[in-house]
Amino acid sequence: MKIHEYQAKEILKKYSVAVQDGIAVKSMAEFDKALAELQSRGINQFVVKSQIHAGGRGKGKIYDVRNRENLLLEGGVKFTTLPEKATEYAEKILGNVLVTHQTGPEGKVVKTIFLAEGLDYKKELYLGILLDRAVSKNVIMVSTEGGVEIEKVAEETPEKIIKEWIDPAVGLQNYQARKLAFALGLQGEAFKSFIPFIKNLYRAYEETDASLLEINPLIVTNDDRVVALDAKMNFDDNALFRHPEIYAYRDLDEEDPLEIEASKYNLNYIKLDGNVGCMVNGAGLAMATMDIIKLAGGEPANFLDVGGGANKETVANGFKIILSDPNVKAILINIFGGIVRCDRVAQGVIDAAKEMAVKVPIVVRLEGTNAREAADLLAASDLHFEVAKSLKEAAEKVTSVLKN
Ligand code: GDP
Ligand code: MG
Repeated sequence: MKIHEYQAKEILKKYSVAVQDGIAVKSMAEFDKALAELQSRGINQFVVKSQIHAGGRGKGKIYDVRNRENLLLEGGVKFTTLPEKATEYAEKILGNVLVTHQTGPEGKVVKTIFLAEGLDYKKELYLGILLDRAVSKNVIMVSTEGGVEIEKVAEETPEKIIKEWIDPAVGLQNYQARKLAFALGLQGEAFKSFIPFIKNLYRAYEETDASLLEINPLIVTNDDRVVALDAKMNFDDNALFRHPEIYAYRDLDEEDPLEIEASKYNLNYIKLDGNVGCMVNGAGLAMATMDIIKLAGGEPANFLDVGGGANKETVANGFKIILSDPNVKAILINIFGGIVRCDRVAQGVIDAAKEMAVKVPIVVRLEGTNAREAADLLAASDLHFEVAKSLKEAAEKVTSVLKN
């Protein structure tokens, strides 16, 4: 699960990680109040930050929600020393569309703004914590090349990213914290303040069952304090039951409506950009099916794992979700009958296809338990299914029906 920057900063604050003061707002009335409140706290520099679940906001563009051709503002994160300018930025951002390299061209409507104290700084650094699955340890990565796209640094100058792996039995050690501080070129007060900063940050990552904690940029202020200027946190969905206060941060506006629908039925669905809808049982088989569709020259419209115990209802719900995607021009059903019997799945497919008046071609490959009975059922139905024997044939059939 992803959360917004302002929410991540609320969490970090609880762990005594230095973040700037700020207030999240959802309307201009709230914005005006927040601005007055920050001014009363003696703040005279502001940063107006669009809150969406995507990065690259600073370099993004704000377009008019009613006319998406109309560019309103360069940048979804704006710094200013003038309160009236902050208000002007907020008016342009709130309710309009932010397009960044991570949102895709359709962008995201900004429903929340984080109005924060604008800080002056002399350095922008990078810091990230995540699980390195290859060695089963958390890794802390730092770089002096902060602020910019870290993916670029990783690709072009990987030696500028310094990594420190944390032994789960003993946790982050002081010498490791110091090593990271040296790697970041910190000195004096900044060096000193980095040690508790990273220790608290790591504790926040571990205790909240985060799967990613990224601070980009981590800044060194003019008065030598280390502060998290941006914060991105993702959480392990399987651990969220332990953190109801974090789960409460879930923002359904930021999630794909079809994925929300699928999660209601316990379907593992991820929407993709292609036009071949896929219904498969088992995540591994689903991955293999997507690969083979691509190999045959097609593009999957989704990943959908209906689970090992798929029944008629699961199949019907899966069908509905696939068909709600207007990009879907053909469907490939690839079920391996184990515990789930192929004839039951076939019946589910037939019923669902009848009920929903499916207009796109469907290629079915059912193999395993009761595959023959399933083939008979499909053949006897008055609906038209293309039946495939092998995975390869199924992929070729589904891509060739698209070409015709
Ligand atoms: P992102 O573009 O989505 O990663 O959003 P960030 O929160 O990282 O902000 C983007 C950029 O805006 C930063 O890299 C800074 O250059 C700038 N910025 C953000 N907050 C401040 C601030 O308080 N002061 C100044 N001077 N610049 C800021
Ligand atoms: Mg950033």
